[in-house]
Amino acid sequence: MSIATINPASGKTEIIIEPHDSAEVEQRIAEAAAAAKLLRSTSFAQRAEWMRAAADFMEDQAEGLGELITIEMGKPIAQSVAEVLKSVKAMRFYADHSEEFLADVPLADPPLVNASKAWTRYEPLGVVLAVMPWNYPLWQVIRFAAPALMAGNTGLLKHASNVPQAALFLDTLFERAGFPRGSFRTLLIPGSAVGAVIADERVTAVTLTGSEPAGRSVAAIAGDHVKKAVLELGGSDPFIVLPSADVASAAATAVRARINNNGQSCIAGKRFIVHTDVYDEFAREFTRQMSALVVGNPLLPETEVGPLATQAGRQDIIDLVEDARERGATILTGGTVPDLPGWYYAPTVIADLPDDARLVQEEAFGPVASLYRASDTEDALRIANQTSFGLSSSVWTEDLEEEAYFVSRLDAGAVFINGMTVSYQELPFGGIRRSGFGRELAAVGQREFCNLKTVWKA
Ligand code: NAP
Repeated sequence: MSIATINPASGKTEIIIEPHDSAEVEQRIAEAAAAAKLLRSTSFAQRAEWMRAAADFMEDQAEGLGELITIEMGKPIAQSVAEVLKSVKAMRFYADHSEEFLADVPLADPPLVNASKAWTRYEPLGVVLAVMPWNYPLWQVIRFAAPALMAGNTGLLKHASNVPQAALFLDTLFERAGFPRGSFRTLLIPGSAVGAVIADERVTAVTLTGSEPAGRSVAAIAGDHVKKAVLELGGSDPFIVLPSADVASAAATAVRARINNNGQSCIAGKRFIVHTDVYDEFAREFTRQMSALVVGNPLLPETEVGPLATQAGRQDIIDLVEDARERGATILTGGTVPDLPGWYYAPTVIADLPDDARLVQEEAFGPVASLYRASDTEDALRIANQTSFGLSSSVWTEDLEEEAYFVSRLDAGAVFINGMTVSYQELPFGGIRRSGFGRELAAVGQREFCNLKTVWKA
């Protein structure tokens, strides 16, 4: 894949960018390693000042950056601007809270370990490589970079090849704000060149957000070199609606959960599992609202669903839907390619999926919802846990016993009750099983790239 901006709303190539050669990559790794030595000896207050300056710089350009995101990957413009502002908020959050998150922790009872004093300390690991996806081209990177830099680490970014302009904006953002040269740089390299960077002895850890094959490859190389890895991979999150729920509210939220970011979000509700007592009511309302969505140019403010980010991504969605259709599933709405230039796909709802349909097990990374009728709560749980993913989940119920039942039995990194899953800087984020390991965001996410040093004093 070449490194290029190809506008998904038109299919037109806007910019092709030359990858970095090996000398450039070497220089950037060397600068990141040198900056890591400097940054770890700066104070939290100093780093916070730089981080706030970077946040101000981004906020000032929110409109232009929003447009850039939309042109590179097709997200409706209001969502692109919101992504910039969410990133700004996270930068300020880590500027405000890192000192507290990474403060020394006294150990409860030093005499028990024959010490006069014992405590733990969080120290930076050094240079961390971040391999990032295109679906939130700024937010995904910032939610790694802000906590990592505030902890005193430096970062190298290998961004997705279809968002090079976002990658180049991030390349200079932190230096412009005052961080030492090399604190955070972009490597314009293909996925095939990532292994050599992980293997480099100056690189201490790696985080990847993306697909399972990429995660498997990165984790294998990191394992081979005994380096810390965090993986945020795919998901096929269940959205469970039970009879005591506010079904109208659940249906309206289900639409937003499924089509946000043109359906290309790892934590989107993808499988809608509805108790038989309210299934018909939910299916009717959900399908009505999905079929009424405004599909079109993502730069227009009225657009609710833009194109998929890549032609290959749209082909994956077409293949999944056609597989379901051939196996006898019912297409309640959509299942078609709109007559538009670019890579659009109609918002789609599919019911009556046979067990062997690919959609039952695979992630639909686009505006395609699967509907399941559950005969009772146990059946709803069985369907929810039947994929090998485990990112997040959503449960709609007003019954506290039912709520407790699902909270303790869902195989997922998070459960959202009577709401859709959203990433918040204050909440830990991450999955289990084939959705990956490790956490991002909050304090635990920041500590992933720290050495927890135990100190014991006689
Ligand atoms: P992808 O192909 O895995 O790409 C993600 C990143 O990995 C890109 O920078 C890509 O570079 C790189 N890459 C690809 N193959 C690689 C390899 N073998 N070694 C090293 N790097 C490699 O992912 P995608 O299909 O674009 O993104 C969608 C997936 O990401 C979905 O499954 C989605 O659920 C998941 N996702 C998860 C989260 C989360 O937080 N859990 C968030 C967003 C997305 P190139 O572009 O150069 O190939």
